[in-house]
Amino acid sequence: MPEHTAEPLLHVCQRCGACCRWEGDVCLTEEDITAIAAYLHLTEEDFINTYCRLQRNRRGLSLIDAEDGACIMLQENACRIQPVKPQQCRDFPRRWNFPGWEQRCPGAGRKEDAQP
Ligand code: SF4
Ligand code: SF4
Repeated sequence: MPEHTAEPLLHVCQRCGACCRWEGDVCLTEEDITAIAAYLHLTEEDFINTYCRLQRNRRGLSLIDAEDGACIMLQENACRIQPVKPQQCRDFPRRWNFPGWEQRCPGAGRKEDAQP
């Protein structure tokens, strides 16, 4: 499970797409499913059948992986559902992260006014 942290941290996303290639689940809330299905002009049933699988703990749904292991929604290094991307994606790394994330995220330690 991701660790939650209350500490403010320095981070400015560099849009490198690395976190969209990491192993693990891209967990979906019910609200995520509703919003993403609508954004893709799919019924929720069709969205689930096409793009979802069970989370590894079998407690909910995750987006599936592409053949190369990246998230199925990563397209030309950008998220094709950016306006409605899952809460888990929006919350990293400020609301959850994991030990060593700073070594895997080029945005770690950057200040808002720093140039990428
Ligand atoms: S790994 Fe970090 S810098 Fe790269 S896209 Fe993800 S959050 Fe942004
Ligand atoms: S849904 Fe978008 S932001 Fe989230 S892991 Fe997939 S490609 Fe990345």
